[in-house]
This record gives sequence, structure tokens and C-alpha cells, in this order.
Amino acid sequence: MINLISDTVTKPTPGMLEAMMQAEVGDDVFREDPTVNALEEKVAQMFGKEAALYCPSGTMTNQIAIKVHTQPLDEVICDEYSHIYQYETAGYAYNSGVGINLIKGTNGKITAEQVAAAIKPRYDWLPISRLVVLENTCNKGGGSYYTLEEIRPIQELCREKGLALHLDGARLFNALVETGERPQEVGAHFDSVSLCLSKGLGAPVGSVLIGRKDFIQQARRLRKVMGGGMRQAGYLAAACIYALDHQVERLREDNERARRIGEVLQGLNYVESVRPVQSNILIFDLVEGLTADKFLEELKVRGVNASAFGPQTVRFVTHLDFTEQMMDQVLAVLKQI
Ligand SMILES: *Cc1c(COP(=O)(O)O)cnc(C)c1O
Repeated sequence: MINLISDTVTKPTPGMLEAMMQAEVGDDVFREDPTVNALEEKVAQMFGKEAALYCPSGTMTNQIAIKVHTQPLDEVICDEYSHIYQYETAGYAYNSGVGINLIKGTNGKITAEQVAAAIKPRYDWLPISRLVVLENTCNKGGGSYYTLEEIRPIQELCREKGLALHLDGARLFNALVETGERPQEVGAHFDSVSLCLSKGLGAPVGSVLIGRKDFIQQARRLRKVMGGGMRQAGYLAAACIYALDHQVERLREDNERARRIGEVLQGLNYVESVRPVQSNILIFDLVEGLTADKFLEELKVRGVNASAFGPQTVRFVTHLDFTEQMMDQVLAVLKQI
């Protein structure tokens, strides 16, 4: 089966497995795992920040960031498509006791003008707007990405108004291989950054939260209370280091393959429209009379798994384990249906 459901389905490459086998480990709760320490230092340095924290998931890094940046009765401002709102089981309310102020953006992206209009005045009966969260690339937005030029006015506004700015950078490197921007420049625009190693980068487990030293100190306590204090996590961190050293540049291929599939889909009579393809996520709408479920069944009997993104909307995600040969197969199947 060819799997286009998500870029989380990848398995470690032989080189990655070898790096994991060779990892030097210790008890990370005592901060004695040299490989976890090395990963955290590497990522902090890469983003020009003081410190970083290795966590089991991107949901945890986002949830910890919200918790550190806010107090109960505050609110978080973000796009309505944001992962923190859509896919983290209302954790912002559960873990942090905060509200959420949603902006209707464009493909998951919001502007400084929209944020300025969303910030609430300070009255006793209103939540305090405390944190803005951007997502890059935007998952539900179809893999759209921000450039730093677009982010800068939002950063300036947050600074001026005293709001914190967090980046959910689950697929940040899928954007950076397109824009050519450097992680360090990104780091300079945000108070904190969450980065997933378990998506297109191909590590089996883990995300990193990046920020100032005092921020990460608090984050470390919260990771423990959420049950995310791991012991010989160096075996996993070794995979993450390997991913950062060897599997960043190739994200270009994933983006390129998604674009090529998008071009083919555009010419097919059962496709109503293809959303703009900016990275490795491809979302398209089917013509009237064809449901996503029916279409996915047709794909499945021909050896391709994908997921519905609405009653007549389908999502494909390209990744490390989706090869050129599979690509040819998928294109043939799409033309056959
Ligand atoms: C995958 C993802 C996360 C984190 O997900 P986990 O499965 O908890 O690691 C966060 N934000 C976005 C945009 C994502 O796509």
C-alpha cells in the first residue's frame, strides 16, 4: 500500500537506525542523557535561542508553550485552522484555562491587521489577549507558508502590545527549503518555536520546544507534570539529530512531488479544484456527485491510502517513504480512475 495519509507514517532509514544503535544514553530526567542534551543544544543554537526541550510530541510542545506564556482567563489569538484549536482536544482550555480568539485567515494565515483588530481592550469582563500563535506551514491550510516578511509586522505588533508570539513550526523546514530563510532568522521573530521531528524529517518520535532559558526552565517542569519526562530518550534524540543532519534538504522533493501530483489532478475531469500547493500537503475538491469516501475507496482498491478532508475534499501528504516509483504509480492510478 502507498500511504499518503500523513508524513507521520515514515519509518527510520538504515542510517538513522544505525545512529540510534550507537547513541550514548543516560537518564534525561536527571539531565544526564548526553544525546538528548546534544539535540537540545543543537536546536537552540540552530534557532539562535538560549535553550530547547525535547518532548514526546508536538501537541505537548504547543501545550507547554501556551501554558508558560499565559495565565488562566487570558486568551490565545490564532487562525481558525490552527492545530492548537482543531487537533489538540481543546487542551488550551484544559491545561491552561485560557480562551481562544479565532481569526478567519487565508489558507490558515493571518495578518498583523487582523491580529490588531482581534486584540481585546483591557476591561474586567474581557479575557486578556496574551499570546499569538502562528503555524508554519499550516496543516489545515493546505501546507501554505509564511515568509518572514509577512511575519515581521505581526512580531512588531506583538512587541508593541506586549503579547507573546509562538510558532507552531511542526513542518517549518518544509517552508524553509522553499523560502531559503534560515532557522536563526525565524528564531529571532518568535518568543518560542515548536518543531516536529516526527513529520517530514522522518524521526520516529519527538518535537522540540525552543526559547529563552527561563522559558525552557518552566517548560521542563511542565513536561514532567504532563508525564513527558523520559529516561534513556537519547535513542530517540539520536534519530532527531540524524534527521536534522541528513534529511532536511530532501524535504524539497516532498514539496516538488506534491506540486506535480497537483498539476496532474488539475487536468482530471473528476477534480473540481486543487488548492494552491505550497509544500508537501495537497488538498483538492471533487466534482459534484463524487464523495471523498467513494473516491478514497477507488484509490484503496488500487493500492493507495489517503484521507478525507471534508465530504468532497481529499488530502494527500508526501513524505520520506513516498518514493519516485510510488509517485509514478499514484499518477497512473489517478489517471485510471
Ligand atoms: C502534527 C502537528 C503538530 C503536533 O502533533 P503531534 O502528533 O502531537 O506530534 C502540531 N502542529 C501541527 C501543525 C501539526 O501538523
